[in-house]
Amino acid sequence: MSDPILIVGAGQAGLQAADALRAGGHDGAVQLIGSESHAPYHRPPLSKSYLLGETARTQLTIRSAEALEKKDIDFLPGVQVVGLDRAAQRVELADGRRLPYRALCLATGARVRTLALPGSELAGRHVLRTVDDAQALATALAAAQHVVVIGGGFIGLEVAAVARRLGKSVVVLEAADRLMARAVAPQISAFHAQLHTERGVQVVCAAQVVRISGGGGRVGGVAVADGREFAADLVIEAVGILPNDELARAAGLECERGIVVDDCSRTQDPAVVAAGDCTARRLPDGRLQRLESVQNAVEQGRAAAAALLGQPKPFAAHPWFWSDQYDVKLQMAGLSAGHDRVVVRGEPVQRSFSAFYFRADRLIAVDSVNRPTEHLAARKLLDQGITPSDEQAADGAFALASLLA
Ligand code: FAD
Repeated sequence: MSDPILIVGAGQAGLQAADALRAGGHDGAVQLIGSESHAPYHRPPLSKSYLLGETARTQLTIRSAEALEKKDIDFLPGVQVVGLDRAAQRVELADGRRLPYRALCLATGARVRTLALPGSELAGRHVLRTVDDAQALATALAAAQHVVVIGGGFIGLEVAAVARRLGKSVVVLEAADRLMARAVAPQISAFHAQLHTERGVQVVCAAQVVRISGGGGRVGGVAVADGREFAADLVIEAVGILPNDELARAAGLECERGIVVDDCSRTQDPAVVAAGDCTARRLPDGRLQRLESVQNAVEQGRAAAAALLGQPKPFAAHPWFWSDQYDVKLQMAGLSAGHDRVVVRGEPVQRSFSAFYFRADRLIAVDSVNRPTEHLAARKLLDQGITPSDEQAADGAFALASLLA
């Protein structure tokens, strides 16, 4: 019997690769190895409905161990891969076992970045990546009064919204001069700053956190560089993630802010593909693109499986992402960086609008607030390379879908 296709990492990308191998007709052995003790689960609700208590633990599961078994996918939970020997085509596990592979998919995801701050060791400081983190945070939130969130990105803001809905006093400290600055345009940042402020969150931008203070071994506050200190009995650090690319790096695969892959999820080793948050994709113009999203994990997982099946299929769709804060659904498609004009459709004051970003004569991105149907049409326009005129984009009565092929 030939060696299995081995997938390291049982998250969204790893699961997708396994599913796509079976869907693509691969009937040989597939092993899915995950260091967490859980079957693959959805992470997005962890900072949203699950943290709020509106989604049950069972609803997080994407695929149960039994369902994996039915597809003849050999799932190994709670198993850490610690080494990769590409010449011998095998991996080494933490317990010393060695597993051979005929092809390998690295889907090791990412871990939270933490700040090296005085006071980081104090109890009451939390991060959020796994369901275990979310469970610990939910328990701590229930008992907390004063919550300080370090980091005004998507996850920090979603947690801030949940904490406010639970009646806590909440401060968000963001180092940049606006919220979600890495991902959205200033108009969307300003809208969300106002949204949180209206709901009672103290949003502080350009805040350089210098220290977590406390007493009796517990957090008591967070100090920023200008001398201000914010009281806290719970501190959440949400300052981004780092790709888990160490296995690949140590095995001599090209890594730069992630495992470098092409648009078919291939590394430079024909026997190794990689997918999801652990990767950085080399674009045709040579730039590297890092995406941290469900869509990217799913599409790269599919592309990785296709490459292993000898049917490479580039992942070409525009990136998309969403975030839920209070009753506001923000959906983003494309990348707005580098736009030279923005056309707004709808009414920000009514919490229902879209921002269309153009560069020269091309539509490059669309962000929508509480406009899911319009957003779907706009996403299709992006994928089909169709650019509405400024007037069509601005006119709420104009059916964008009528432009679609
Ligand atoms: P992961 O889900 O991180 O899975 C990788 C798995 O590999 C992990 O289980 C890890 O333990 C395991 N692993 C790592 N190293 C090893 C090893 N050496 N051996 C064995 N196993 C290993 N995206 C959106 O699009 N929209 C959202 O609203 C959204 N909200 C989010 C909210 C939160 C709180 C979080 C944490 C993420 C959110 N994301 C969202 C991001 C999205 O969930 C991720 O981009 C996606 O889950 C990445 O999937 P992945 O499979 O690449 O990585």
